[in-house]
Formats: sequence, C-alpha cells, structure tokens
Amino acid sequence: MGELANTFSWSYSRHGMFSECLRKYWLSYYGSWGGWGRGASERSRELYLMKNLTSTAMWLGTVVHDVAEGALKARALGETPWVERAVELGLERARRDIADSKAGRYRENPKKQPGFQEHYYEEPEPDWDAELAEIERQIHNLFGHPIFRRMMDVPERILEVEILRSVPIEGVPVWVKLDALMQSNEGGVVIVDWKTGRDHDDASIAQQLGIYGIYAVQLREVPVEKVQALHVNLRHNTHTIHPVTAALVAESREFVARSAEAMRAGLSDRERNVAPESGYPMLPDGDERCARCRFRRDCGRG
Ligand code: SF4
Repeated sequence: MGELANTFSWSYSRHGMFSECLRKYWLSYYGSWGGWGRGASERSRELYLMKNLTSTAMWLGTVVHDVAEGALKARALGETPWVERAVELGLERARRDIADSKAGRYRENPKKQPGFQEHYYEEPEPDWDAELAEIERQIHNLFGHPIFRRMMDVPERILEVEILRSVPIEGVPVWVKLDALMQSNEGGVVIVDWKTGRDHDDASIAQQLGIYGIYAVQLREVPVEKVQALHVNLRHNTHTIHPVTAALVAESREFVARSAEAMRAGLSDRERNVAPESGYPMLPDGDERCARCRFRRDCGRG
C-alpha cells in the first residue's frame, strides 16, 4: 500500500489553530504527519501523540456529543433512549477514559484512546468528580432540552448525525461534520449544533454555521431561504437561532477562500503541500497560551 499523501484541506478548527499559533499549526498538520507509521521518526511519533492529547473541556464535549449522537442514531432506528441509561453509559465511558489515560494506554493508540494532558505532562489530577458531575448535568440538559425532545419526537426527520464530509468551497476541500441535520416543516433543513464549553462567541458560531449552510445549499441542494441553524448550549441550557442567508453563505465562502490562501502562502511547494518548519515561528516566550498547549514539550515550554 502506498504512503498516505498529506494533501491540503481546510476546516474551521484548522483555521483556529492557524490564527492562534503558527508553530502549533505546523506541528499539528505537518510535523506530526505520518507519526502513526512504523517507519516514522521519533519526533513525528511523539508529535502525533501530542496532537491527539485532550483537555478536560474538549473531552467533556466529546463525551456529551457522543451521547447525543448515540441517542439520535438509536431513535432513528426506532429505539427510545432514556436519560438514566444515557447518563449511566456516558459516565461508564468517562470513567474508563480516565482510567485508560492514567494507565498510559493512549501511547498504544493515540487516535482512539484519549490521553489527558495532565497525565502526559505528569501534572496534578483534575477534579474528576466535578467533571463527571458536569457530564451528568449536561446529559440531563440535553434530554430535557425542547430542541432535543422535538428531534426525538420526529425521528423520521433526522437526515444525518455526525457524518464527516468534504465540501469543495472555492476549489478547496473543506471538512464539515454537523452534529445533526433535520428536515424542517417547510421542506427545508435545520442544522443543529451542540456546544458544551464555557465560552463560545456568537461571531465564530455564526461563521461556522455559515459554512455548514454552504454544505446544505451546495451538496443537499436546499434553497438558502429554507436553511436554518440552531446552536444549543448545553452548559447554560440555552439555544439561539442563527439565520442562514445568501449574504452569510457568500461571506463564508470568501472567509474560507481567504483563510485557505493565507495558509497556502507559507508553503514552499503548493502542489505537494510542503511546509518548511522555519516558516512557522513559535509565540513569543512567556505567552500564556503556551502553558496549556499540548505541544509545549516540543517547544521547550513545559
Ligand atoms: S507551546 Fe506555544 S509556541 Fe509552542 S506550539 Fe504551543 S502555543 Fe505555539
């Protein structure tokens, strides 16, 4: 089997990393590339491991999203998931993740086994009881939320749940994964996005939902006036409707094209997607973002 080529693609999280720290971007998308293979250099193997490390906030989001995904998929198959069982399964999985990470099992399979930064960097344990209580609270919020309940009431309208897709936008392959896509009353679609964290700003949520809107219009061929987006915050138990308009879709296209062009400007070979490490500097010494960065060991900052 031939080697997997590192081809250029765009995603919202890639944009976030590119904007935050150029070195982090390089380590994540170039330095760690191939680190899963037998013939990988020691550094790229370690970078691949670091790339897959998680924080408690990211992990909590994954656990709650997986519970939502499992419940919606089960409902679409005609089952009736109930909250107590979902909490039980969510907490069982969460406890297993913590124990596996403590035991260092992420070293065997960094992609599949979660590894917490605290274990990798041998830091004090997080307050796991508080994390588990928050997971339980958010699963209750999910099952009690009117949007989720409505989705469970009309399983025949669930069009897709967490499917990773590539959408060509202005010639760039863009990865999107919608938490859920529902058919609306008016023959349109509703994009549903769960958030579990403390801080999500409205502008970046709208930007992300605009990109999902492009997917609905372009690949699902839904007229833009029939696309709606809903952002549900499970931490604060609130939701916001974001209108998806022709203007937002056009803005999102431009945004992706501009961001992708900025990323490719640093390549020494655009065709082969080659990025020289020297073109991707670290943040200034002492920058507070380094203290929680998963790559800090490679940068000599932790
Ligand atoms: S440790 Fe700092 S400089 Fe290094 S990748 Fe992380 S954020 Fe960037």
